[in-house]
Amino acid sequence: MPKFEIVLTNARIVDGCGNPWYRGDLAIQAGQIAALGPVGSLSGKESFDLEDCYLSPGFIDVHTHSDLTILVNRRAESAVRQGATTHIIGNCGLSPAPVQAEHLEEMKYYWGEISNQPEISWEWRSFGEYLDTIQSGGLAINLGSLIGHSALRMAVMGLEDRPTSPSELEKMKTHLREALQSGAYGLSTGLVYPPGCFADTGEIIELCREVAMYHGLYASHIRGERETILEAVAEAIQIGEQAGLPVQISHNAPKYGAPNDATANLRLVEQARARGQDVTVDNDVHTDLAPALMEALPQDMHRWPLAKVVADLGDPGRRQQIQAEIILDAKPAFGPSGLLKHGQWQRITILHAPHTPAAVGKTIESLARSQNQDPFEVYFDLIVQNGPEVDAIFDYIDEANIRILLQHPDVMICSDGAALAAYGFLNDPPPYEPCSYGEFPGVLERYVRDEPVLTLENAIRKMTSFPAQRFGLMDRGQIRPGAWADLVVFDLERIHDRATNLFPHSYPFENYPHQYPQGIEYVFINGVLVVNQGEHTGNLPGKILRRTGVGPL
Ligand SMILES: [Zn+2]
Repeated sequence: MPKFEIVLTNARIVDGCGNPWYRGDLAIQAGQIAALGPVGSLSGKESFDLEDCYLSPGFIDVHTHSDLTILVNRRAESAVRQGATTHIIGNCGLSPAPVQAEHLEEMKYYWGEISNQPEISWEWRSFGEYLDTIQSGGLAINLGSLIGHSALRMAVMGLEDRPTSPSELEKMKTHLREALQSGAYGLSTGLVYPPGCFADTGEIIELCREVAMYHGLYASHIRGERETILEAVAEAIQIGEQAGLPVQISHNAPKYGAPNDATANLRLVEQARARGQDVTVDNDVHTDLAPALMEALPQDMHRWPLAKVVADLGDPGRRQQIQAEIILDAKPAFGPSGLLKHGQWQRITILHAPHTPAAVGKTIESLARSQNQDPFEVYFDLIVQNGPEVDAIFDYIDEANIRILLQHPDVMICSDGAALAAYGFLNDPPPYEPCSYGEFPGVLERYVRDEPVLTLENAIRKMTSFPAQRFGLMDRGQIRPGAWADLVVFDLERIHDRATNLFPHSYPFENYPHQYPQGIEYVFINGVLVVNQGEHTGNLPGKILRRTGVGPL
């Protein structure tokens, strides 16, 4: 008589803790790992012969932006097909709750086009209501969430560029407490984006003191990842020290314009840890990002209606001022704008430009040369002609830094992407987000199998037990009896990322539109099969994960 519901037999088991793989069987019962044993020792009503493929915990992606995409595509196609079984959302200060009616329009503007999709009702107001909205419709992956500082600020004072008043800060704390009581894992900031960039260090420390009372953590897209990266890492560490809570420094690769390689920012983390502070880092392995050209304009302009942006860019005097502001970068802007600041126009390749299609596939440098114009003029003209619809691939990270980060013991692997799908709204037009399709398979293919940057066991540890431990998911991220059966089976020989395109490009649109990776054979989430021989089963066994543990001390 078969003893278990499901048995996976003949596997090379990588436990997620960094131990060498071993050959064995695994049994699943009631959503959990029920038993482990030698090959042939376990029997189940349903049995999968893994034919000596690797079996590891499902990948836990602690830095994603799936907050709204999960409502549009509850199957989380691009996530599960790359082996991710848990996403942490609410990163970079950005979460879709709380929402106050008087600032709803700003919130929708902030999230862009997806805000108007029929699946996004915007009926929730509190953070708890938002989480319930996701859970009630079902979802394929597990989701845990941070509460975004920018969302708190927006709920209370919109996008205003000024310090908070004491009463506004109290209102933000009320929303924050509601989120923490609803299960938020901590607070995130995005200190290069409005309105996060309008907050000073003191405001964040005040909020983090609340988070500390709930045993949450502080995760930050720091205040500049280029020229100011070391000051910005120091600020994050200071916030953790003064508020008394763990710090997670998000996607901490130095971007083009940083004075040092990644060893300099990592040294600050090592020193903080040596002093007894709990600080860790995540990073993804992509060298590029494809934002709208408008996103590299000074932060203040992000709040303007399009007509005003176009009018200002149409005025030669204002154009000069805007160019000077970008170069000065007084309030450090997001990473890619460093390419404008430093004149790296050959690293900006136009991806979409519906009103100037001849520009697509060309770099700003080559357009400037062929039009015999200054590159800044070309850049601004493209915005005037195309508005928010012109975007480009910005190659702004040195791959050497990605390797340094991958090998550092305090760094875990994240995607900084979102759960997408190769159909429907999320693929119209196809976004350029290789991390959303190929992060984990890409690491296994390029940095484990093809080049010995990481051992397999260490790479898996950085995708599973390490992120689980960081977020207090103590019953996930490991293969041991009693843990939830979030599992991925992959064929390392066959694994292939079909989304990534490393710089310098021979052809800028290689692997675009992105395809799902090869070699991810089976994915189980809470014991339920979600990917079967590379295909989505349509099952939605995911759960909203909530920070457990005690409330205020
Ligand atoms: Zn970020």
